[in-house]
Amino acid sequence: MPASLSTTSSRNTGNKERSDWKLTAYPVMEHFYTIQGEGAHAGQAAYFIRLAGCDVGCWWCDVQESWDASVHPEIAAEELVDAACESGSSIVVITGGEPLMHDLTALTEGLHEAGLQIHLETSGSSPLTGHIDWVTLSPKRFKEPLVEIFPHVDELKVVVLTRKDLIYAEKNAAECPAGTLKMLQPEWDTPESVPLIVKYVKENPDWRISLQTHKLLNVP
Ligand code: SF4
Repeated sequence: MPASLSTTSSRNTGNKERSDWKLTAYPVMEHFYTIQGEGAHAGQAAYFIRLAGCDVGCWWCDVQESWDASVHPEIAAEELVDAACESGSSIVVITGGEPLMHDLTALTEGLHEAGLQIHLETSGSSPLTGHIDWVTLSPKRFKEPLVEIFPHVDELKVVVLTRKDLIYAEKNAAECPAGTLKMLQPEWDTPESVPLIVKYVKENPDWRISLQTHKLLNVP
């Protein structure tokens, strides 16, 4: 399980690019200081950067307003890094939308220069870029992950609606490194998935349950 990863684009970063990261802009739906609600780091304070744009199209998506990047403002990486630093958080979560629709080299370079730890939440359906400290892969059958992401996965988090999703979870887990944290998360509006998951985790204790605790607690 890699503590960090280097992609081709970030490894090749030269001095000129290094000085230019501040100017790179990203379409951003929202960025805010909150509590990570789900997955391995649930309960930890974190600065969230929700990049706009998604081409995956999950019908049950709860952030559909993120899909069209063109309706969201472009914000310079420098402004995003400054906001994360001012929050006092040591962790930044880059999420979406599908954040890998954008080249994350500049943003992650700036965040690391500021000494922040970077977590990524992705479907893995676009090429991996940037230096990431913790990769959470949430694969979606609507647009499958690229095989190149699997060696970098620290946490596999599969949203479950039906039994088919449990089979899909195992299929993806088989591609992940040994030691990857394996999480099953009930889809929020599908309560019938809960008994399925509980039974499955009891029978397969190498899996854990992830809950969207921020929704339970109304943490914005
Ligand atoms: S990948 Fe994420 S943001 Fe995109 S449609 Fe699916 S749940 Fe929504």
